[in-house]
Amino acid sequence: MLEDKFGRRFHYLRLSITDVCNFSCDYCLPDGYQCDTPRDFLTLDEIRTVTRAFAGLGTSKIRITGGEPSLRKDLNEVIKICAGTEGIKQVAITTNGFKLDKDIDNWIAAGLTSLNVSIDSLDPRQFADITGHNKLDVILAGIDKALTAGIQVKVNAVLMKQFNQTQFQQFLHWLETKPLTLRFIELMQTGDNLEFFDANHLSGQPLKEQLLAEGWSQVIRDKAAGPAQEFHHPDYAGRIGLIMPYSKDFCASCNRLRISSTGKLHLCLFADQGLELRQFMQEQDETALQQALVDLLADKQATHWLQDGYTGGTKHLAMLGG
Ligand code: SAM
Ligand code: SF4
Repeated sequence: MLEDKFGRRFHYLRLSITDVCNFSCDYCLPDGYQCDTPRDFLTLDEIRTVTRAFAGLGTSKIRITGGEPSLRKDLNEVIKICAGTEGIKQVAITTNGFKLDKDIDNWIAAGLTSLNVSIDSLDPRQFADITGHNKLDVILAGIDKALTAGIQVKVNAVLMKQFNQTQFQQFLHWLETKPLTLRFIELMQTGDNLEFFDANHLSGQPLKEQLLAEGWSQVIRDKAAGPAQEFHHPDYAGRIGLIMPYSKDFCASCNRLRISSTGKLHLCLFADQGLELRQFMQEQDETALQQALVDLLADKQATHWLQDGYTGGTKHLAMLGG
């Protein structure tokens, strides 16, 4: 098992397969995807090699992310490769959901075990305002299809002062009958969004206090479950998760490593740079890749420096998949 000098164990890989996105979320790609780097994304053979290398080092969960991963025409093959690799027990995807209704059955047939969909507002007009696309209805239909198929569903909503702060009650009402986990994510500063961040960042702490006051109970989770805090309530079919990267000790339960769509290892979402590993993927050399991973992990830092406004080399999260 990959373990760092602080005793954190990494059983979870976030694998970005493209940095292209068709949405233009205000906090991420407000001007849409800018094609300013070559689109030289990992091939299926390279994905196979990196998946096997991680699995051989104890990784059991892979999240496929982007950009928008469903823009890749070979997404089904990517899911199949991950799901078919010995040792991989969970294959998840994070998507904006625009192809969900059409493709979820194929993804499940390929081996997908869980799904994260990003929905920042349940108000169709506000959703379109934030993302640039009037697609809320079809995304919600896709979520219902995924729930009917029995797959685990989480919905990600980024908290933003000027947008969806007032959405909290509507989201809660939705959870009364939807058996899914709704995860509120604190807006994170990135290289490109400082002004937006300053105007919109909201702490999750008051939400946590409100939930506890309204009868929600915090779920006791294993440290290996990662940094999200989860809450349940007997009157609700759904659960709530809070992801509070600005809170104390957030990084202590870090359980994930990231590979970018061009094959770089990112030890943290806010690292200065990605570490070049593509050569080993191109040569399909799993052993050399594993050795490099073990060596490079020695440089993983105890924490990010987001509280000090330090965002490393991350211009926006579409670069890496969040
Ligand atoms: N396009 C896919 C999607 O939106 O789900 C996957 C990539 S997106 C970068 C992954 C997650 O990061 C999404 O849930 C998105 O809301 C979140 N995200 C993007 N930028 C963020 C920021 N600055 N702060 C907090 N979350 C952010
Ligand atoms: Fe695209 Fe996801 Fe970023 Fe929105 S959050 S712009 S859907 S990558």
